[in-house]
Amino acid sequence: MIVAIYPGSFDPLTVGHLDIINRAASFCDTLIVAIAKNSSKMPLFTVDERLVMIKDSFRDNGRIEALAFDGLLADFCKGRSVSLIIRGIRGHSDFDYESSLAFMNEHLAPEVQTVFLLAKPGYSNVSSSLIREAASYNGDISSLVPAHIIPQIKKKFSVSNR
Ligand code: ADP
Repeated sequence: MIVAIYPGSFDPLTVGHLDIINRAASFCDTLIVAIAKNSSKMPLFTVDERLVMIKDSFRDNGRIEALAFDGLLADFCKGRSVSLIIRGIRGHSDFDYESSLAFMNEHLAPEVQTVFLLAKPGYSNVSSSLIREAASYNGDISSLVPAHIIPQIKKKFSVSNR
């Protein structure tokens, strides 16, 4: 039984994340999509809002779970018998950061393997931060995020919400 975890901020969930989730789910029995609560970034969406985004995208797939966690990823993996950490790589800049992260996780939990999936060419420039920026100026981000979250993004940047 292979239990894998795909940790991230998902602020917001993008088509790039969806692709990684679908590909990872094809080779594990359970995939936990996990929002890291202790990320130092100031999020646009609350943890609960992001959890709903993920759950709504995978309602029909009982092998994909969404949750939020606090503390060290390595400790969470040990507690839930997770054997694989899934991360996505879009290019060189991701590689440097991701390899340091994988090194630390290997150090803390040697029994857990990090598996990198290369971004699809069409998604290698899709990032949550650029989507947030474009959306804040009313840019069209409709092809970059799942359709059901577009209203949530629009609401965040609606004049009455500023
Ligand atoms: P983090 O804050 O941990 O970087 P993200 O939610 O931005 O969280 O990303 C989670 C993981 O997904 C990271 O490994 C990141 O490199 C990867 N990722 C982000 N966007 C894409 C994309 N467009 N294609 C493939 N992987 C991606």
